[in-house]
Amino acid sequence: MERIMAETMREIPILYLVVPCYNEEEVVEKTASVMGEKLARLEREEKIAKGSKVMFVNDGSKDKTLQLLHGIAADDRRFSVVSLAGNYGHQSAILAGMMTARKHADVVVTIDADLQQDIEALDSFLACYMEGCEVVYGVRNDRHSDGFFKKATATAYYKLMHMLGSTVMTNHADYRLMSKKALDALSEYHEANLFLRGLIPTMGFPSDVVYFDVKAREAGHSKYTFSKMMTLALDGITSMSVRPLRLIGGLGFLMFLFSIVMCVIGLVDWVRGNNVPGYTTTLIVSLIIGGITLLSLGIIGEYVGKIYMETKHRPRYIIDTLVWREDDGEER
Ligand code: UDP
Ligand code: MG
Repeated sequence: MERIMAETMREIPILYLVVPCYNEEEVVEKTASVMGEKLARLEREEKIAKGSKVMFVNDGSKDKTLQLLHGIAADDRRFSVVSLAGNYGHQSAILAGMMTARKHADVVVTIDADLQQDIEALDSFLACYMEGCEVVYGVRNDRHSDGFFKKATATAYYKLMHMLGSTVMTNHADYRLMSKKALDALSEYHEANLFLRGLIPTMGFPSDVVYFDVKAREAGHSKYTFSKMMTLALDGITSMSVRPLRLIGGLGFLMFLFSIVMCVIGLVDWVRGNNVPGYTTTLIVSLIIGGITLLSLGIIGEYVGKIYMETKHRPRYIIDTLVWREDDGEER
């Protein structure tokens, strides 16, 4: 009992907010002021320690985002900037931020730059951490701020994910707290096919869920293009589960049974001497088999492609510049 007590008695943590930014020039300044104020308030309320920061990750923005971020960080040392060499995508951007932040922080919260996720939920995140959680998942209450298309695709996607054996948590995007311990564990995972919201629940660790409201985007438009969304959706399935491959196996087995039945029918007809010319049957059967074969090859190909990328062991992101200043002065 004493040991458990000792483990759950935690010191007030240094918090880093990791904020991925891709072409967010319309919103970063507002975001910085909102997040800066929130940090100041949490610090005054003694929920976080001095030295807590906002760490922006510039994911190869093509607009003025980086310039603006440098300006923000120059004015106030509570803001730091990790600038990636190119656009590596949301998942790699937050990984870059978390892996950089874990060197200085006790807890890291990843949050989008568009202020859609309610920042007031941070208090509950921190409360869960103080009670002993290593990971806290932010789960959105509802989806009324999303358009019909996003809502429908998201719902169908979570259903499909669970059917295909993924561990993803419904309606949890990447608004999440992780302790240094959990981040150190995450650093041991080297997969290029990164789907954090599915991967992190598989690590274990005491965790909890905090519900929050999603607002409309503060400014600008969604940076998740259709193709980025499709890539994430596919990564989510292929990185978490091989059930699609098993389904192919099952399908192959069914086709095998079907072909035996067809052989028997064909032979019986032949013996009876009534082998009518069956153009339609032949056409349908070969189309079905051809279609299933191509689909199966496609699914296998998707995994083979992923294996190919994994075997290269390429870095998942490259940091171009880092602006980070100690609270008492020196620039690093
Ligand atoms: N983002 C990123 N790299 C990308 C695409 C998006 O870092 O290639 C960031 C983006 O700046 C934002 C977050 O990921 O902070 C979530 O993107 P967005 O709000 O556009 O997605 P949505 O909320 O529409 O799903
Ligand atoms: Mg958004």
